[in-house]
Amino acid sequence: MDHELRILIDLQALDTRIAGLERQLEAIPARIQTVRDTTLEARREVERLRAQLDEIKKETRAKEKELDYQASQRAKCEARLYEVKTNKEYSAVLAEIETLKVEKARIEEEILSLMEAQERITREIAEAEARLHAREQAGGVEETRAQGELREAEAALAQVRGERESLSRDVPRDVLATYRRLLRGRGGLAVVPVQGGICAGCHVALTPQHFQEVRLNQTVLACESCGRILYWVA
Ligand SMILES: [Zn+2]
Repeated sequence: MDHELRILIDLQALDTRIAGLERQLEAIPARIQTVRDTTLEARREVERLRAQLDEIKKETRAKEKELDYQASQRAKCEARLYEVKTNKEYSAVLAEIETLKVEKARIEEEILSLMEAQERITREIAEAEARLHAREQAGGVEETRAQGELREAEAALAQVRGERESLSRDVPRDVLATYRRLLRGRGGLAVVPVQGGICAGCHVALTPQHFQEVRLNQTVLACESCGRILYWVA
């Protein structure tokens, strides 16, 4: 095989590898971000439930105060029973006490359901905390793995770029310029094999004459349709 053609084929292999590594590197930060976002979501859920619990505790305290106030009102009413002069006044105070009793029962009912809500949310917090803990651990492992892949891909990229650099020195400047122009303009594919008489880059059939020339692998020949550099693999 022609020496120059051999180098171009190798260059293409390196550039394909470089493009793959670059794609891999580009995807990693988003992956790390997703891991962090998922953990953050789990943490926010714990925070949301804790705030909800605080709110319910506050509401419970307010109801308890209301109950205390109620008790003092009732004590006052009961004391007044001994002071009233007429039956009519007596009945009025009794009616007031009755109203206070009904209200007391209502407040106690409300406090009870608030206590139940507290218990339920406390359980939910424990579950959410367990989920957060598991998420933090899994996230830590995933992130470490992603960071490792990042470093590996960066090291591999540096190495392959170095190889490309030294290989490029063996190609005449004008051939290299053509190669690079094709690489940019043809979706990262400048050197392609001919398979079954067809250019693997644009899938157009070569003329028999052209095909015979390419089969020799003795010169750098371009596809008449897409301009890519062609070679033949038996
Ligand atoms: Zn072609």
